[in-house]
Amino acid sequence: MDFETLCLHAGYTPKNGEPRVMPIVQSTTFKYESTRAVQQLFDLEAPGFFYSRLANPTVDYVEQKIAALEGGVGALCTSSGQAASFISLLTICKAGDHVISASSIYGGTFNLFAVTLKRVGIEVTFVDEKASPEELEKAFRPNTKAVFGETIANPSMDVFDIEKFAKLAHAHKVPLIVDNTFATPYLCRPFEFGADIVVHSTTKYLDGHATTVGGVIVDSGNFDWASSDKFEEFVVPDDSYHGLIYTKAFGKAAYIVKARAQMMRDLGCAQGPQAAFYINLGLETLPIRMDRYCENALKVAKFLKTRDEIEEVRYPGLEDSPNYALAQKYLKKGASGVISFSLKGGRDAGAKFIDSLKLATLQVHVADIRTCVLHPASSTHRQLTDKQLVECGITPGLVRFSVGLENAEDIIADIAQALEKVYA
Ligand SMILES: *Cc1c(COP(=O)(O)O)cnc(C)c1O
Repeated sequence: MDFETLCLHAGYTPKNGEPRVMPIVQSTTFKYESTRAVQQLFDLEAPGFFYSRLANPTVDYVEQKIAALEGGVGALCTSSGQAASFISLLTICKAGDHVISASSIYGGTFNLFAVTLKRVGIEVTFVDEKASPEELEKAFRPNTKAVFGETIANPSMDVFDIEKFAKLAHAHKVPLIVDNTFATPYLCRPFEFGADIVVHSTTKYLDGHATTVGGVIVDSGNFDWASSDKFEEFVVPDDSYHGLIYTKAFGKAAYIVKARAQMMRDLGCAQGPQAAFYINLGLETLPIRMDRYCENALKVAKFLKTRDEIEEVRYPGLEDSPNYALAQKYLKKGASGVISFSLKGGRDAGAKFIDSLKLATLQVHVADIRTCVLHPASSTHRQLTDKQLVECGITPGLVRFSVGLENAEDIIADIAQALEKVYA
């Protein structure tokens, strides 16, 4: 089945007389007839549901669908994108370990890495993702366990060279984890370029309607945990599951099973069935929405380029963008719906512009179906110092403009009238 078909049919397939639409199984627990059956579930010897913190049928359908869309062997939904990033690393890292991350990443992830992971003893080195392989090589240490980056960075809109980083990571026998939130698997499937694990904030384009906070981790099944000497926990018996060995028991799905069996069990940031239902509704229309986002955003970006009031427009789909070559390689169908731009006059002009918009609304969100706008320096990235801001690819006057599915001419007219007010 092709992508569009998978969006509608992967995961849930009703049998004779069953609901056509994926049902919401609003139950924390499941009934069994024998203690033996429950024992097998607890020992991970048989598949099945026993408690919705670990797995729930509705969430499971959505996990199967997203795994199919990314081309992976399995997925784990989480309560938020933050939880997905955290669990994706904690499944393979412990205190004393080290991670390499692109510096242009979402502010929340930057905080998680720079502050919270540090507190639990995991150190993250931030690298300039545009640096040469030779330069990036220097960041690796004997205790490095993973490399992390965003396909399209929020909000710098830098495109991540997945292949370059996959080669480096694999040379050091560690996996590459890619946050594919802004691209979605419709525009880019990172596994095809060598990424091993993908995470998403499903809150953004996958849900797409601004109804539900959620996240997901997808496992490509391609990383060979057993042949790297860095991931002992995959090949030695897990005492918390009666001596089970992940690579032996689950083969290609070792990582995603471990993420669920250990991390979701212990941390409990599970997705609920209602949330999964809403995310599924979004997934059903993902391809047509993404096409329109890309089309609208390119029109808006081209309009912004014609305006003297605007200092810089960052959209990887623009031919003169420094990210254009990478976008041609990784984002063949389009460069997604977000544009970052700086107005002449810095912070004040940016704020006045946002306050003057009528159609586009000020929201702490991105990838909404409606056009929305945000000033990162005073919101999502507020806690960062100016130096950290610049490292994340953000200037104080940067506006993050998330183009919606309205008529592009209406969005452009709104921007034009706001610009008139700022520079009146
Ligand atoms: C929003 C976002 C996150 C965090 O996801 P939440 O669902 O808000 O927890 C992570 N990565 C990127 C790229 C994001 O845009």
